[in-house]
Amino acid sequence: MYDVIIIGAGVCGASIARELSKYEVNVAVVEKNNDLASGTTKANSGIVHAGYDPEPGTLMAKYNVEGNKLIEVLCKDLDVPYKKVGSLVLAFDEKDLLHLQKLYERGVENGVPGLKLLTKEEVLEKEPSINKEIHGALYAPSAGVVGPYELAIALMDNAVENGTKVFLNHEVVNIHQEQDKFKVEVKTAKETKVMEARYVINAAGLHADDVYNMIEPTDFHIIANKGQYYLLDQAQGGLVSHVIFQCPTAKGKGVLVSPTAHGNLIIGPDAADASAKHDVATSQGGLDYVRQMAALTCSNIVYRDNIRNFSGNRALTNRDEFIIGPAKTNAHFINVAGIKSPGLTSAPAIAVDIVKMLEDSGLSLAAKAEFKGTRKVKSLEKLTKEELQALIKENPAYGRIICRCEKITEGEIVEAIHSPVPATTVEAVKRRVRAGAGRCQGGFCSPKVVEIIARELNIPLEAVRQEDLDSYILIGKTNKGGVDHE
Ligand SMILES: Cc1cc2nc3c(=O)[nH]c(=O)nc-3n(C[C@H](O)[C@H](O)[C@H](O)COP(=O)(O)OP(=O)(O)OC[C@H]3O[C@@H](n4cnc5c(N)ncnc54)[C@H](O)[C@@H]3O)c2cc1C
Repeated sequence: MYDVIIIGAGVCGASIARELSKYEVNVAVVEKNNDLASGTTKANSGIVHAGYDPEPGTLMAKYNVEGNKLIEVLCKDLDVPYKKVGSLVLAFDEKDLLHLQKLYERGVENGVPGLKLLTKEEVLEKEPSINKEIHGALYAPSAGVVGPYELAIALMDNAVENGTKVFLNHEVVNIHQEQDKFKVEVKTAKETKVMEARYVINAAGLHADDVYNMIEPTDFHIIANKGQYYLLDQAQGGLVSHVIFQCPTAKGKGVLVSPTAHGNLIIGPDAADASAKHDVATSQGGLDYVRQMAALTCSNIVYRDNIRNFSGNRALTNRDEFIIGPAKTNAHFINVAGIKSPGLTSAPAIAVDIVKMLEDSGLSLAAKAEFKGTRKVKSLEKLTKEELQALIKENPAYGRIICRCEKITEGEIVEAIHSPVPATTVEAVKRRVRAGAGRCQGGFCSPKVVEIIARELNIPLEAVRQEDLDSYILIGKTNKGGVDHE
């Protein structure tokens, strides 16, 4: 019997798990996919928004501004890629300038620090590569870029180190309420079983409405709204040095051009309803739109350096607001739903309030004396030559480069495979240490990564998956019974 079951291991579930792991409570996270951060948290712009966009007085405004500050601290504590690069919202005409004034006032009311309206000349001084026809911009120095899945993984790894249990490939299919507990029915690859908890947090992202419906008729419905991207090689990463937005429209924050936390260039997203919650296919039409809009910001983007297109789905509801709080009939069931943008930025602040809500509804929270709130990732880049040589002498695997594009060694991959929430697939390794995230997108290193996973987990090569349980890479030997050319 757990005190709390958190459904969903995206950035919201991970933030809540980590916040709860500061206390003497027994917490389980159940996730239907084969890894952490494999829903919307893995496919977004990765922007730590400043907070001038949401309407004052909304939860989105409150959590955005608070989350922006918390993320900076968390990234330091947990060694997550983050850069406080600042953002610019460009005005292309007089009407846009009026809108920027509104955003500025909204931002001031929301408590966003350092906002400034810049003239055309001031903007071009900051960003010489952008189009010269701009009329001005809103500058927000507190905006940043973060590795979105790295953040969620770091939070969950840290929660696990502090006692949280994570169950991957556990899909919640039903929830029964009893007097003082929930019986959560989960489906695994082998069986359907029941897990019990006194409190349930519904952080199921695009499926939060389906999960809520398991305990009472939901009064919100989630529609998946797709955003598509170009991700360009690091060769293009220096084209701009801020997150550059265009004036937002009713459809959202529009197409941005931005450096990523790893020095790539990201361009997107568009916004169009997806055919289903699991539909993350990219389309020529969507990508063409992204290019067309991005050209207004920068006409000199070299798309030959594109290394990946991808899309993510926003969890839109009929309310333009996060839906956070206890269910109508049971205060021990708390929804964290409709977490669209700025959800990544807001998640750490949402987590703080969820813990307060749990306490308000009777969960006793004694601080954990031995809570360890920091994590250090072995980054070979940051080592001196002498330190690196000493490390390689101690463990030669740190001297064997597996991913040539990102210069990732066997030692780092092995570490990821044995991390608190182990990386057991090619994509999970990529999310943790970037093997396969570079220019060749795993063309050279993924067979090596498969071998290392198989060896470290002591499983056959055919059992290693790309991502989900059914994403086979190898299905057997082609020369059975003949000469083995190993
Ligand atoms: C195109 C796009 C761009 C964005 N850009 C930004 C940005 O720049 N900055 C920003 O702040 N925000 C941004 N966002 C928003 C941000 O990505 C999301 O708010 C955030 O990732 C939501 O996290 P989550 O944990 O709620 O959901 P998810 O990451 O989707 O996690 C939910 C998890 O629940 C699991 N789950 C679902 N059903 C079940 C079940 N029945 N049983 C067990 N597990 C289940 C899923 O598998 C999933 O892993 C963007 C979103 C999109 C789509």
